[in-house]
Amino acid sequence: MLYNTCSIRDKAEQKVFNRLQNFKKAGKDKIFGVLGCVAQQEGEKIFDRAPHVSLVCGSASYPKFGEMLVQLEAGNRHVTGLSIDTEETFDTPFTRRDNPHRAYITIIEGCDKSCAYCVVPFTRGPERSRTSASVMDEARRLAAEGYSEIQLLGQNVNSYRDPSAAGWDFATLLARVAEIDGIRRVRYTTSHPRDFVKAIVDAMDANPVLCDHVHLPVQSGSTKVLAAMDRLYTRDEYMRRIDWLKNAKRRYSLTTDIIVGFPGETEDDFQKTLDLLDQVQYDSLFSFKYSPRPNTSALQMEDRVAEEEKQRRLAILQEKQRAIQIRRNAELIGEIREVLVEGRNHALGQWIGRGSDHRTINFTHPENGGESLVGRYLHVRVTRSGPNSLVGESASVV
Ligand code: SAM
Ligand code: SF4
Repeated sequence: MLYNTCSIRDKAEQKVFNRLQNFKKAGKDKIFGVLGCVAQQEGEKIFDRAPHVSLVCGSASYPKFGEMLVQLEAGNRHVTGLSIDTEETFDTPFTRRDNPHRAYITIIEGCDKSCAYCVVPFTRGPERSRTSASVMDEARRLAAEGYSEIQLLGQNVNSYRDPSAAGWDFATLLARVAEIDGIRRVRYTTSHPRDFVKAIVDAMDANPVLCDHVHLPVQSGSTKVLAAMDRLYTRDEYMRRIDWLKNAKRRYSLTTDIIVGFPGETEDDFQKTLDLLDQVQYDSLFSFKYSPRPNTSALQMEDRVAEEEKQRRLAILQEKQRAIQIRRNAELIGEIREVLVEGRNHALGQWIGRGSDHRTINFTHPENGGESLVGRYLHVRVTRSGPNSLVGESASVV
């Protein structure tokens, strides 16, 4: 029983040990392994806290996973993979994919930044890019298998650098994947604003297969807080990237991540974040209360923001963003947009689709003899809107 874990915030980490106890009861006579970031962070301490665990392995050691299984089969009950000193990427043909139309491809692993709040550089190791040939081969194979949407993944996809002689940068890789026959949509996440260069916007403008959506995490609207976070850009530098996108040939949906209550964040800094929301008009965002993480430099910082104050700021931020989304989504009523059908809501008699801009649209379609529309691309007219999604009716004949 392999349990994959996340340690990005404290809450996720706390769950791991509770779940491990529950699994123990459910999985009698099984061998237990803990994988991922909590495994990397806690290491051999996991054997003490959960003695039924036999394997502890961080993601940088996945290439050695086969050898570890051999050790487990030989009866070793303390097997570890904890080195993060590696140049290898985890290139495997055995990827389980649950969605038959959308496939994720990791193009870069690890992170070389050192954001003051973030545990990732300690749990995922240094940046390692896959060769462009291996990414292209995988994308072509997926297209041949019928996948029409590809999402390129990495902690900072913008710093992708092809280690082979071809030497592609991220914008080149993006453009080439989008040219593969059978691929109708290409998305990517996550971008670090510092490495988000104009060539990426130009590549997107040149080929509509590259979706109308950019996720560009800002974290704070205050240049002072950004400096304390070691994010390597100012508010003005971030806004320059937003201007590229706003002045581009297509309308791009913009989303972001925000942390409230970072040490030293004053009311004035927080107001700057609210003001940034007004200025950018994001289509959606993920917001988090700052969570102290082991090994990170922010742990030593003074001027902690009290938990209730973090909660208050989070609620204000989310309320403001909700109002922005209600207004922005309402502007789309009457538009006809292409959606990839992702599922069916039987109770409501609606299909669930997603636009190129990543918005969800629930829509009705005339009775078609019970045939599934999942995986099809249809045109849908937007008739209503809410804060998080749209409602519409099919404008396609199928
Ligand atoms: N690499 C991406 C970047 O630089 O934008 C983000 C990776 S992280 C998995 C996703 C988000 O989690 C971050 O953008 C940040 O907003 C949030 N996050 C990371 N560490 C956090 C912490 N210690 N407390 C609260 N939120 C955190
Ligand atoms: Fe963490 Fe992203 Fe910063 Fe890397 S760039 S340290 S993953 S927040």
